[in-house]
Amino acid sequence: MTTSIPSSKFLALLPNIDLMKCSRCSRWAVAEVGWKGRAYCSDHYREYFLGQVRKVMDKFRVGGKVCVAVSGGKDSAACLEALTHFRGIELEAFFLDLGIPRFSRGSLKKVSELCEELGVDLTVVSLKERWGKSIPEILKERKGKACSLCGTVKRYVMNAYSYEGRFDFLATGHTLSDVVSSTLNNLANVYVQAFRGVGPFLEAKEEFKLSRKIKPLYYLTDEECKLYSELLELPFYTGKCPYVSDAPTKRIKAWLNRLERDQPGVLRNFAKSFTLLESSMENRGEILKCKRCGYATTTRICKFCRLMN
Ligand SMILES: [Zn+2]
Ligand SMILES: [Zn+2]
Repeated sequence: MTTSIPSSKFLALLPNIDLMKCSRCSRWAVAEVGWKGRAYCSDHYREYFLGQVRKVMDKFRVGGKVCVAVSGGKDSAACLEALTHFRGIELEAFFLDLGIPRFSRGSLKKVSELCEELGVDLTVVSLKERWGKSIPEILKERKGKACSLCGTVKRYVMNAYSYEGRFDFLATGHTLSDVVSSTLNNLANVYVQAFRGVGPFLEAKEEFKLSRKIKPLYYLTDEECKLYSELLELPFYTGKCPYVSDAPTKRIKAWLNRLERDQPGVLRNFAKSFTLLESSMENRGEILKCKRCGYATTTRICKFCRLMN
């Protein structure tokens, strides 16, 4: 019997600090998964994690050429590593260099290490070189919340890269925590149109140049992804983006993590409810084609083209 005691950095997922044994073997647990009523050792935790990813991969038959958007953070690192366990997939990692001093360089360094370790090809595109402006330059010209602006840019570029590269899927490291917190934030701002994309999968729309998208970490919280990346010692960047002041989604996430501990499974229930609401909505917002670039938009000229102009 192995009785190695888990190191303290992993105890975050063991709310009742009493040491627990793995539900599947006799080793010490590193995590308790509340909604399953199980505790896992590191090996069985990995199995649980990959099992949750498999649910998404099987349901939407993810295969072929898959582009994984990596940011340098823990979630996309976990996403890329997890996808290396699946057959019938040709993986490529994609990194957008936003030109944020220190932060972008630090992130790219970790992404390069990660891809090297996993043996996955990495493509790096610089926003400044390709479109003429970096995020700090855009922010100097525009008022607006940095995170939402940056989100617009990332979504646009990732989709365009995946569409132009004829990838079968664009995979992103969005977690259950991301999906639920951003949707709650949209509800808090009466932005109901944003219900498009609350599920793990979005079908391609060729006429609007929208590529097919998948969220392999859809059933996993950000705490679970962090633990996975730590257990595997994946390279990921922990530096903070200088613009990330007080994003409301961060506060919502912290609240959701507490709620999940008291009421295991509540995050999944939120996500399920959102998906049901999305499918029952009649008016999902009209999609138009941007007059300048031809990609999907809800206005005449898309937000990306307006930012880059
Ligand atoms: Zn075990
Ligand atoms: Zn456009």
